[in-house]
Amino acid sequence: MATKRKPTTDRKLTEIILHCSATREGVDIGINTIKQWHLARGWKDVGYHYVIKLDGTLQTGRDINVAGAHVEGHNATSIGICYVGGLDENGKPADTMTKPQELTFHLLVQRLRATYSYMPVKGHNDYTNAKACPSFKVLKKWPNINTPSNHGNTTS
Ligand SMILES: [Zn+2]
Repeated sequence: MATKRKPTTDRKLTEIILHCSATREGVDIGINTIKQWHLARGWKDVGYHYVIKLDGTLQTGRDINVAGAHVEGHNATSIGICYVGGLDENGKPADTMTKPQELTFHLLVQRLRATYSYMPVKGHNDYTNAKACPSFKVLKKWPNINTPSNHGNTTS
């Protein structure tokens, strides 16, 4: 683990931001591969706090108390989650999220909201038109994910 990393004081967490790894459907990578990409960019650690593998396995990345590196201007106050996939077999953006990934994602959101506070879920593409990531619109896929009556409900 990175030794230079200083634990920060309480981060003010206000949003959960979903990403995809921009790998083709069925390509079974995990956090170690993504970390290598990010280290190759000169970063100190993987940019996301969590990675969700194709089979739904949850992997922990950057310490939640440390700002991530995933959305310009929003890293200080957000939690970054990345699901593996996001491209079809031709390399075009596509919602390739598997059912196990979706289930893990909802459980994680529920857990994070219970542990910290209510935070809306957003997609990377809600912040920039320049990115397709996570290859779908969060509120189109899960219309009720951020409605107050449905906090934590996984059946939306
Ligand atoms: Zn992204």
